[in-house]
Amino acid sequence: MRKYKAYCFDLDGTVYRGKKGIDSAIRFIHHLQKEQLEYFFVTNNSSKTPEQLQQVLADMGIDTPTNRIYSSALTTAKYIAQNFKDADVFMIGSDGIRTALESEGLNLVDTDDARPNVVVMGMDRTNDYMKLVKASLAVQAGAKLVGTNEDIRFPSELGFLPGNGSFVHLVANVAQVEPTFVGKPSPVMLEIIQQEYGFEKEDMVMIGDNYDTDILCGIRFGCDTIHVNTGVVSTELVLQKELQPTYCIEELEIL
Ligand SMILES: [Mg+2]
Repeated sequence: MRKYKAYCFDLDGTVYRGKKGIDSAIRFIHHLQKEQLEYFFVTNNSSKTPEQLQQVLADMGIDTPTNRIYSSALTTAKYIAQNFKDADVFMIGSDGIRTALESEGLNLVDTDDARPNVVVMGMDRTNDYMKLVKASLAVQAGAKLVGTNEDIRFPSELGFLPGNGSFVHLVANVAQVEPTFVGKPSPVMLEIIQQEYGFEKEDMVMIGDNYDTDILCGIRFGCDTIHVNTGVVSTELVLQKELQPTYCIEELEIL
């Protein structure tokens, strides 16, 4: 494997599974830190703030500043602030997306009180039927439907659990619209890292377990990609895809 200046890691299935760190990935990140190479965490997890993700990583032995953590929540808030100025936003999601939307100065509303211009959906473990009803009706009344990410499912110690994309598609199907997704495989998060740090695309590599999000994100952005066989999509499945990652490996190794 060639050397890069900036290593962009997916989190779930790449750095950890559920609450358990993946030893080889943790050793690899420690190595990058020792060599003073740049590393970033690029995650479709919109349910946690960067501070909460920082704590999750710290519990696994990875000390990282929050400015290394790029979540789909932050990117979604930036996308809405840029494209729907002064919008009233109805949100389904937890702390991560709420904090991100508020810090962009967006006006969060309930559909009982106002008619939203935008419905934003991020992962919400307290989601219920009435929230989905409100989102579905608001979108039918003309609100734009934006999902932080399209992940249909994600791995846990118990097995696969429903991901945000499952719920966004549910609302989209009811309202008969095409949703917009901001998280991977959209290349927006990698574009922001490139802009903020001034890397060339050939300096960057995207590392992940999920072909349809991580690898396609890197391919669409135009950088090298590494698929690891530690999460949701097996190497066997990846090898059947038409567009191949730059490298397919079992797990990360220090060379
Ligand atoms: Mg993953």
